[in-house]
Amino acid sequence: MIANNPIFIPGPTNIPERLRLAMAKAAWDHRSPAFGEIISPIAKGLQQIFGDPGAHVAFFTGSGTTGWQSVLVNLLAPGQRVLAVRNGMFSERWIALAQDLGLVVDIIEAPWGQGAPIAELGDALAQDSAHQIAAVLAVHNETSTGVRSDIAAIRQALDGTKHPALLCVDGVSSIASMPFKMQEWGVDAAVAGSQKGFMLPTGLAIVALSDKARALAAANKGPKGCLNLEILFTALTAGSFPFTPAVSLVSGLAESIEMLLEEGLPQVHARHRHIAQGVRAAVTAWGLEPVAHSPELFSDTVTAIRVPPGYSGNAVVEHARNRYAMNFGIGLGPDGDRVFRIGHLGYLSEAMVLSGLAVAEMTLHDLNFSLTLGAGVAAAQRHFSDKTEA
Ligand SMILES: *Cc1c(COP(=O)(O)O)cnc(C)c1O
Repeated sequence: MIANNPIFIPGPTNIPERLRLAMAKAAWDHRSPAFGEIISPIAKGLQQIFGDPGAHVAFFTGSGTTGWQSVLVNLLAPGQRVLAVRNGMFSERWIALAQDLGLVVDIIEAPWGQGAPIAELGDALAQDSAHQIAAVLAVHNETSTGVRSDIAAIRQALDGTKHPALLCVDGVSSIASMPFKMQEWGVDAAVAGSQKGFMLPTGLAIVALSDKARALAAANKGPKGCLNLEILFTALTAGSFPFTPAVSLVSGLAESIEMLLEEGLPQVHARHRHIAQGVRAAVTAWGLEPVAHSPELFSDTVTAIRVPPGYSGNAVVEHARNRYAMNFGIGLGPDGDRVFRIGHLGYLSEAMVLSGLAVAEMTLHDLNFSLTLGAGVAAAQRHFSDKTEA
């Protein structure tokens, strides 16, 4: 079967030819001045992409999860308290990791499909008059449900209660695709990964800290192992790595940043919004519901879609893969089989996403969902087409 189709999982994402070529290099010396020249401009580009020209940035071998761990071990110590919202699988995994590292996690439960509940966060912070909560852990874009939380509002809840806790944000599936304003939102630690908006294979964790967070990390005497960010910041500022980096991915990251800045970050964000709206138009035309409870929560990088009673989300994903050689995301979490997900982030055009919608639609049709072939594709076409219909 010809299987050179775009991929529609919410990471890893499609890897453009330009980045594949940027990574296809013979072995080279990671301590050479030539490699230093690759490293040096990366920090400035990342500061722009994270939305904070003064952020301290580090990138190192690992995945998004490694990035989380680096934030937790650098900024916190076992026994400290953190406050976290559980509203999906990635927030759940971050909580589990924090607990494994010996942190005491105060958990605010929210329904899967909802964003971070700001009033409850504010109450929890207000009740903590002794300021025992050292950090708030938030997931900007919950990839399991396709829900975007309001990070600016979490900052307001912290400021409104004059609470000094750090604001640590998982931006793995939003940074480089959706607006992320680290400085404006007062984010102290932000985490991204190479395999989502950066359009690269998995393998790099990308982390940014505020001045306050870096100072705390440098003063934190707890064990950090090979995830010591201060050592990384110092080396990267000098154009080198403390240990052998994933050289090909670092070359790819430099090129990816160039691609994103060439297109323009506002244009990248607008393209993601535009593509996401086309996907949502199709979902509505199929008569299906997103998991996200209301439009202001809709993610521009992934749509999680509920299947009607009696249908299986996993069957949708399997059929699309086996029959049409196209990959969509399975549902995650307790309700997993009730959901499938369309990832629409990274290197994606209108034409590419139309092919995904056409296959998703044929798949639903093959599996006896009640829909008219072409309805979803036509809805997306109407959204994408220059000519508005009368
Ligand atoms: C993909 C993702 C992660 C990171 O997962 P890894 O598999 O470790 O890269 C973390 N958070 C969110 C919201 C994600 O989408």
